Amino acid sequence: MPLVYEKIGIFPSIYTSSLRFSTKLSSIPAAMASSLFFSTPIPTKLISKQKPFSHHSSNPLLPQSTIKPLRSLVVSTAAAIEAETETSSSNSTPLKSLPFRVGHGFDLHRLEPGYPLIIGGINIPHDRGCEAHSDGDVLLHCVVDAILGALGLPDIGQIFPDTDPKWKGAPSSVFMEEAVRLMHEAGYELGNLDATLILQRPKVSPHKESIRANLCKLLGADPSVVNLKAKTHEKVDSLGENRSIAAHTVVLLMKK
Ligand SMILES: [Zn+2]
Repeated sequence: MPLVYEKIGIFPSIYTSSLRFSTKLSSIPAAMASSLFFSTPIPTKLISKQKPFSHHSSNPLLPQSTIKPLRSLVVSTAAAIEAETETSSSNSTPLKSLPFRVGHGFDLHRLEPGYPLIIGGINIPHDRGCEAHSDGDVLLHCVVDAILGALGLPDIGQIFPDTDPKWKGAPSSVFMEEAVRLMHEAGYELGNLDATLILQRPKVSPHKESIRANLCKLLGADPSVVNLKAKTHEKVDSLGENRSIAAHTVVLLMKK
């Protein structure tokens, strides 16, 4: 999706409802729920870490407009989790760390003349490209979302909203770097990744290895665990009519 981030407003309800759902599962040990949603450094870093970007004078990881809601959300959900874990701690469930986490990402962009077509950080010659707030890299966006999803975090649009001018024209490698940083910070590394591009034109095969190599570089991963496929859409619908491009990604993260 072209970093359309109207979902920002529903983030609290999604997040809190998933928390409620999760904490109702008696099979989830208290410490696991805690590590996933409470004591994990991810939300804290998202709120507090000021990651300097060279092209911005003051560039917190999250836009100021989202910091307060996130902070209050985390505080309130933390309190809720604390309350629930306190009551469930009497179950004396053995503490267990989740060894694997799976995440799925999907993205779609409209193709319009006059824009560059950038896939996986590689500029692909074409008669049109992705209209987007950032560079419109459909593959990197969905890889980022897959990683964030595996970590149980909000999606790319909520972390890098298109309402923030600082992301205008931003290379999507910035989002990748942040997703990878969050992955490591949470104590995970990439197990493997499988991505599928869907576009009618141009042919991806001449660029596939360049795209995959850049993806490996951004992920800091061995090529043997990064797979990339490309399909047409059989000339059906916008994807098949060279009016849009989409990508799916599945990642498996492994506890370090
Ligand atoms: Zn996108």
